[in-house]
Amino acid sequence: MADDRHEAMQAVAAEIRGCTLCDLHLSRTKAVPGAGSSSADILFIGEGPGFHEDRQGLPFVGRSGDYLNDLLKLIHLDRDAVFITNVVKCRPPENRDPLPVEIATCKPYLDQQINLIDPLVIVTLGRFSMARYFPGGKITQIHGKPKIENGRAYIPLFHPAAVLRNPDLRPVMEADVNQIPSILEDMRQKRAAGSKPPESAGDDAPPPQQLSLF
Ligand code: SF4
Repeated sequence: MADDRHEAMQAVAAEIRGCTLCDLHLSRTKAVPGAGSSSADILFIGEGPGFHEDRQGLPFVGRSGDYLNDLLKLIHLDRDAVFITNVVKCRPPENRDPLPVEIATCKPYLDQQINLIDPLVIVTLGRFSMARYFPGGKITQIHGKPKIENGRAYIPLFHPAAVLRNPDLRPVMEADVNQIPSILEDMRQKRAAGSKPPESAGDDAPPPQQLSLF
């Protein structure tokens, strides 16, 4: 079962690496499917790959990645124990915000990853992943406040890069991260009691077919 899940995750990653469904493929060096455990209890979702991620094909490397590693250490986790990905898998040029059409086109890949991993906790990092679960939410107002639905917790956090740009946010970010273990334990108990997240419409859908240019 775990092997099947790992293989299915590898298949999704292979599709992502060859994907040409939106224009972000034109400027990417490498697509960044995500990294970590296919059976992780915690899934982190950021915005999109940056310069270093695009070069290495890995999520959250460079300064933001180092800071994310530090945050994980605070709660005695390392990267192998979680899964880390983004709402778009290819770098937007000059690190601009991903466009709505790019997020929508890439969404089936993230949906598939979530359905395969089936995490107890989803942590959003920054505005674009937050908008998926907290539409209209403002990060300054809702950061660190979990939403619990059917045995899964959704926790909105600041993006690590935003905290690096504004060091005043560090204590806030670290307090928010320090809550994760107790929320995870609560979700374990709820899941053991039979609470299960619904499979949302479209989450099982395969990625859209490649569009012919002709
Ligand atoms: S849909 Fe996603 S994986 Fe495909 S080219 Fe766009 S950003 Fe990359």
